[in-house]
Amino acid sequence: MQDGRRYRYYPSPEEAQTFAQWIGCVRAVYNGKDTEEQYLNWLRRYAKFSARSFAPDEGESEFTFDQAYSHLKPDKTTAPWFHAVPPQLYRNAMYQRNQAWQKHWKDPGTVGRPGRRKKGENDSILLTKELFQFWGSGLVLVGTEQRFVGVIEYREHRGVTAEPNSMTISRDTCNRWWVSFTFDDGIKVKSDEEILQELDALSDEELMEATAGHDRGIVQQVTSSDGRVYGYTEAKQRAFAKYQRRVKALQKKMARQKDKKSARRRKTKLKLAKTQAHIKDLRVDHAHQISHRIVGTPKSILAFENLKLQNMTASAKGTAEEPGKNVAAKSGLNRSLLHQGLGRILQYVRYKAARAGKLVVLVPPQNTSRRCSRCGHTEEANRHGIHFRCLKCGHEAHADANASDNIQLEGVRTVLTALGRGAAQPFAEATKGMTITVHPAGAVEASRSPRLAALAARRG
Ligand SMILES: [Zn+2]
Repeated sequence: MQDGRRYRYYPSPEEAQTFAQWIGCVRAVYNGKDTEEQYLNWLRRYAKFSARSFAPDEGESEFTFDQAYSHLKPDKTTAPWFHAVPPQLYRNAMYQRNQAWQKHWKDPGTVGRPGRRKKGENDSILLTKELFQFWGSGLVLVGTEQRFVGVIEYREHRGVTAEPNSMTISRDTCNRWWVSFTFDDGIKVKSDEEILQELDALSDEELMEATAGHDRGIVQQVTSSDGRVYGYTEAKQRAFAKYQRRVKALQKKMARQKDKKSARRRKTKLKLAKTQAHIKDLRVDHAHQISHRIVGTPKSILAFENLKLQNMTASAKGTAEEPGKNVAAKSGLNRSLLHQGLGRILQYVRYKAARAGKLVVLVPPQNTSRRCSRCGHTEEANRHGIHFRCLKCGHEAHADANASDNIQLEGVRTVLTALGRGAAQPFAEATKGMTITVHPAGAVEASRSPRLAALAARRG
């Protein structure tokens, strides 16, 4: 399975200059491609001109991607530095762009459209095998015979366990340099189908027992149906608060420094970027810890809501024609959602679960917080903030715990459906103590739950 490692790298001034130049040239060509395609798209739409390289943004199958870029490089006489860059880097960038679009088309709801590269924001170059020689123990030879750089040294901590197939050199917003490698770690990962086949040996009740539902929320970060709650420790919250205060102060300071070219403003900007990078590091670290603990539990099916986080964090302001409702409340929500790094936690859980041979199941998020996990009664008024009290059966729980139970139920249902075993049985377990009458004809009548009735109807 593909794995990756990232290391801090302290370049010599010459190396930094070379790589900065490579990054800049690649960015120019990358963005040139973007401009070209926007133009072609415009032509296609408004001038009724069919461009060979363009397809509408709807994932049509006949889509072909034009990865030609040489015409975007300026002439050798006017801009020779563009030709000092290994041409493979341009090709790799086109490939990355292509991949980003493919990802977007595959799932436009969650994966945004790839944009242009902005200087200082996504400064990186992808090096394929012919551009580097991996020596190990913190050493890698970079360059080709024509464009030789030399052996560069990085800070190795956790080793790369196999010959890497690609390498990335990047610089982040606060001028820290990194090298990262991807390689095949040799771990044979079971496919979802293989895991499902193993799970088929379990009874419905055992499947229920093996599943944990996870509610990702605002109040508590992750609440599991097994009773565990994962969140920030107080020390971490304090660290966050400290950095956030610093960000605010620096933003204010920068707003006062009107002269955009002044050295002081540049200094403030760098400090701001550094503080923001600290916050991001804390988040990443935290997501790693939480996902590690979640995957470390004995549960083998991990259910999560399929949240469209991008929609939830998208601008709440709306457009000019359609101003957003509840702007203030939503932007508060957006901020805390971002703070939670919910998407990142799931991403890391998937990574770790795959290596541990566990199944991650995504379930639809509708009504998980309004539905009673005991009787299935769904009503907005069941929930009051963090308290859940079912208006029908009186079931009381923390709202997140109730939601996680619902997610567990949905998770089991998803697995059973995938196994072709129908969906009705686990609900019998989940709805223990309810009055269910089986008529001689085989029809099931559930006296209190419309959900059970619906399931029964499907079964009958
Ligand atoms: Zn209820």
